[in-house]
Amino acid sequence: MNVQPIKQDTWKALAACAGEMSAMFYPPISSEPRRAKRSRESRAKAVCASCPVREQCLQHAVENDERYGIWGGLTDRERRLLVEPAI
Ligand code: SF4
Repeated sequence: MNVQPIKQDTWKALAACAGEMSAMFYPPISSEPRRAKRSRESRAKAVCASCPVREQCLQHAVENDERYGIWGGLTDRERRLLVEPAI
């Protein structure tokens, strides 16, 4: 992955998810019904779709092995597939 470099501490300040809505990007501590999970992830991905630092966010998540939540518009599973495509 090769994206335009932005200073590490700069891209997070430009995140569309900054602030109150960040909870929708992570699963709750308790179990989450499948339908609620899909709904939450869809809403989070809609925010990511217009985020100006989506590529930097995804690159950060992949490089730092972020295992939970939506980063760069992808779920943890989608990021794993990106890095380790199925044979
Ligand atoms: S791509 Fe999504 S998770 Fe990443 S900073 Fe932007 S809105 Fe937040």
